[in-house]
Amino acid sequence: MNNSIASLLKCPDLVRTQAFINGEWTDEAGGAKINVENPATGEIIATVPNLGADAAERAVEAAHAAFARWRSLPAKERALRLKAWHMLVLQHEEDLATLLTAEQGKPAAEALNEIRYAASFIEWFAEEGKRVYGDTIPSHSQDTRFLVFREPVGVVAAITPWNFPSAMVTRKLAPALAAGCTVVLKPSDVTPLSALALVFLAQEAGIPKGVINVVTGGPAAIGSVLTGHALVRKLTFTGSTAVGKMLTAACAATMKKVSMELGGNAPFIVFDDADIDLAVTEAIAAKFRNAGQTCVCANRIFVQDAIYDDFVEKLTVRVSALRLGNGLLGPADQGPLIDQRAIEKVTSHVADAVERGARVTTGGSRAPGPGNFFLPTVLADVPAEALINSEETFGPVAPITRFDGEQDVIRAANATTAGLAAYAFTRDLKRFWRVSGQLEYGMVGINTGRISTEVAPFGGIKESGVGREGSKYGIDDYTELKYVCIGGLD
Ligand code: NAD
Repeated sequence: MNNSIASLLKCPDLVRTQAFINGEWTDEAGGAKINVENPATGEIIATVPNLGADAAERAVEAAHAAFARWRSLPAKERALRLKAWHMLVLQHEEDLATLLTAEQGKPAAEALNEIRYAASFIEWFAEEGKRVYGDTIPSHSQDTRFLVFREPVGVVAAITPWNFPSAMVTRKLAPALAAGCTVVLKPSDVTPLSALALVFLAQEAGIPKGVINVVTGGPAAIGSVLTGHALVRKLTFTGSTAVGKMLTAACAATMKKVSMELGGNAPFIVFDDADIDLAVTEAIAAKFRNAGQTCVCANRIFVQDAIYDDFVEKLTVRVSALRLGNGLLGPADQGPLIDQRAIEKVTSHVADAVERGARVTTGGSRAPGPGNFFLPTVLADVPAEALINSEETFGPVAPITRFDGEQDVIRAANATTAGLAAYAFTRDLKRFWRVSGQLEYGMVGINTGRISTEVAPFGGIKESGVGREGSKYGIDDYTELKYVCIGGLD
């Protein structure tokens, strides 16, 4: 099994099928395994250890033991190792992209983009780690001085999802390491290979033992150690809102710092003064990337009355031309969904919308043949009360709703518990200011459906989470302020 996936790589060593604790690749002899499947074929491409609480405990202890030395290195020293890691990721980008496609399903070109995006966080935070500045505060008396330092929080637990199995790992590990923290990572049990390959390269880059640990296995058993352990000082999580809330509650007992990057329900608003062709192109980017399995993907498309029919027709033509395919076999625009459950959710959202009066203008069903493929789909005339408007669909379905007035659409856009990303298309400068100000979201794309970059703050408000990743702000969540008051100086 491993041989066949390894045979696709120039560097077969990147296929790691063991956990990584205290600098050792490890599993339990005769222990349980988790199958890793290719969602395009259903084929098992590898197995990884199904570890539990004991392994998580060992990983936390290893991370704690490594912390004192790692934090004491000058930031520049840590940066040099992160830069070496960055270079290795780029050198192996094609292999890493192949692994990503094999376990997650996204097309080859998208996988390569994700690897470069993943690498960009390592480079960015290697630099930012050198700029973790403190402060001096003017004193209120002649004999005292006040200093403020930023110190690493300590051992960080990171739990990552399957939809961006590489980028979500580096978006957490790079700022943590740059700040001087050590990490225990639990990657998604569905896509562990990308995380393990990245960590293999980190080891090659000279990140010392214990600084990064990866525990593969059962989410609940590992999660309960990571959330309950007194030595873990921060949990950073990307995943669903339901799991995020549960983990946050579990962290309360030991008052850990938390960063939560959770689900979205992004509105995508096209006003009648918009460039329609641009809006169609960007809707496809925002909706069909990763087969619609992104947290910032356009979940509800609102189009103003005067351009509604034109937009629906243009989007339908473009979406019906998207090519489905197994990214390991050739170019494709859209890969499979992650599993059968995802197919069922998307199918039920489409059925519910149609039952309530929506029209399928293209797609609408599972694709024939093997693998978890769902046809790229456009639904027109979707009523406000349809399930697809209130829940994250996480699939390749673009639901379009007609609107009339600006305030009506803002109200509809904000009528959700999510607050991650929103998009609006307009050429009216005054409307741009009004709308971007009134949308209750952590991120707003105006005339673009592509907002993710390592240089800007990524994150949500409301039930989409707390904290920001990437940008100059992204390292703050891995530090604590220490105030030092010096007296007796007269
Ligand atoms: P998920 O919540 O099911 O799983 C995320 C991670 O949590 C996985 O590693 C999983 O194994 C782990 N997990 C699940 N139950 C756990 C438990 N009881 N204890 C500890 N860990 C547990 O989410 P998913 O299906 O992997 O990812 C899709 C979700 O992630 C979507 O809702 C999407 O919007 C969200 N997401 C958000 C962002 C963001 O930046 N806001 C980015 C990507 C994905």
